[in-house]
Amino acid sequence: MKKLAISGIILLSFFFLGCPADKKVDDPQCMDTEKSRSLYKLTGKDSIKRCGTMNLLEKHLIKNTKLKSKMDTIEKQCQAFIALSKSGKITDLDTITIPIVVHVIYSKTEENICNQQILSQVEVLNQDFSKTNKDIDQIPQEFKNSASDINIRFSLDSIIRVSSTRTEWGTGDSMKFSSNGGSDGIDPTKHLNIWVCNIGNGILGYAQFPGDAIATDGIVISPQFFGTEGFISPPFDKGRTATHEVGHWLNLRHIWGDGNCAVDDFVEDTPSSDGPNFGCPDYPTIRCESNNMTMNYMDYVDDNCMYMFTNGQKNRMRATFANGGPRESFL
Ligand SMILES: [Zn+2]
Repeated sequence: MKKLAISGIILLSFFFLGCPADKKVDDPQCMDTEKSRSLYKLTGKDSIKRCGTMNLLEKHLIKNTKLKSKMDTIEKQCQAFIALSKSGKITDLDTITIPIVVHVIYSKTEENICNQQILSQVEVLNQDFSKTNKDIDQIPQEFKNSASDINIRFSLDSIIRVSSTRTEWGTGDSMKFSSNGGSDGIDPTKHLNIWVCNIGNGILGYAQFPGDAIATDGIVISPQFFGTEGFISPPFDKGRTATHEVGHWLNLRHIWGDGNCAVDDFVEDTPSSDGPNFGCPDYPTIRCESNNMTMNYMDYVDDNCMYMFTNGQKNRMRATFANGGPRESFL
């Protein structure tokens, strides 16, 4: 589908009115936020799996035997960039702006989220990646100097809406292809494609790491965990699922490195950990004999209990845009 600027969407909706095609460009009515908060509030009984990214990576590594060496090459480039940055041999890039394409694939009315809900998510990404989030003052003193302005901005390029009879999409990437009733990614070398559709099985979202197949590059989030208003489900109603998944998309690992105390997330200034934290942990929470950084976006805590990336995570993310990096084409 031809790209449509957000400013043109309302105008074009008149053109598409009455059009029987599956793909619609319009702005559905926003769901009442407070009503959604009470109707869709999740409790401890709900089996929630915050992120399906590592599970997907394991599957892709088995399916694609070349992926491991590709990711190793990206890791070498990343470490070389960090070493050069530290030695002052390269100066950091300016602010990087990433155009976003949002594919809304829905089978229920509430899943066809309104433009305002999508814009509320873009706003959260812009705050979280520029250290202007309102909850930044909650960072404990010992981690304050590690908190980083990633200096990345996001702009909404276009919204694509696809009506479907499919009620759950899982993590198999079928939502990324119109041939499966989903929506094809728009030039992933220049856009961050975000598919908003019901993943199911309690999974909030998942991402694909740099280096994996280009046709499926991007992130996927269930609609009720996207943005801060409209159809939202507390306690994942602050737009942090997207912040977490974009972190993966820019080569960040989970804060505990998906292993025991000895397994690293390849970031120097995140304390060792041996597993995810949930809910809203007390500070300090001690794991692996140190105070855990439970408030990092790459942990599994509730949305209002995560509010920082570190300087080390910034280096990893910005390395993807450097010379020879997997996201270089965005500049
Ligand atoms: Zn994750």
